Amino acid sequence: MTSEIRRVLAVGAHPDDVEIMCSGTLIALHQLGHEVHVASLTLGDCGSVELSAEEICSIRHREAMKACEVLGATYHHLGFNDLCIFNDDNSNRRVTALLREVNPSLVITHSPNDYMSDHEITSLLVRNACFNASIPNYKTKVREVSCTLKIPYLYYAQAMEGIDIFGKKITPQFYVDISGLMEQKLEMLACHESQRSWLRAHHGMDEYIDSMRRFSSSLGKRASIVSERPITYAEAFRQHCGHAYPNDNVIATFLPEGVITEPAY
Ligand SMILES: [Zn+2]
Repeated sequence: MTSEIRRVLAVGAHPDDVEIMCSGTLIALHQLGHEVHVASLTLGDCGSVELSAEEICSIRHREAMKACEVLGATYHHLGFNDLCIFNDDNSNRRVTALLREVNPSLVITHSPNDYMSDHEITSLLVRNACFNASIPNYKTKVREVSCTLKIPYLYYAQAMEGIDIFGKKITPQFYVDISGLMEQKLEMLACHESQRSWLRAHHGMDEYIDSMRRFSSSLGKRASIVSERPITYAEAFRQHCGHAYPNDNVIATFLPEGVITEPAY
């Protein structure tokens, strides 16, 4: 079963989150023939100090579509607003509608612990949607498509800088070696020019790209130590293994050479 071509869905709160947290792994899965979908709950309406919400949303929508073209993925956005992602009934039904529409067998989203509430609540909404989508009597208000047949594999990417809100390190379960995919990951991230130029103006350097490269490099260093082989860049994940969710590591099955287990997890 696990060697089948599958549909993969990565969900972030904001338009560039998926690129930052897991695009290397998505590229690797896409190269194996898996169909990849990327979604953001918002279009990043607070992502500018100069443009109106409508103007920046339109720009960021184009940027997100362009990044997905690099990956060969389908892009979805759910019409939420920045800083307004809440765990309420309507939000759960909207995210469940996405799960039913895409019907993925593998889902990646934010860490349940992260630096901002939009990320954490997105993580919870996606977790709930993976469960809720297969329940026939749970109706989504957006549009009705048939419910999914089973709960997908669910993974949480590393939080921003790999730390929780107390600054404590979050130990990953495993790493994915993305050393050979870094150029494509950078190309995807560079599509989000509005965010890159904003940080460049603020920091006086290309912090948008550099911070992602530094973080991927730090994960690669740890993966190198654990695996005793050189890994320049990595991404890191934990799997949701609670009741009813599949808990064998299907990413490790798909990428047997690329996955390195963290012994300290
Ligand atoms: Zn974000």
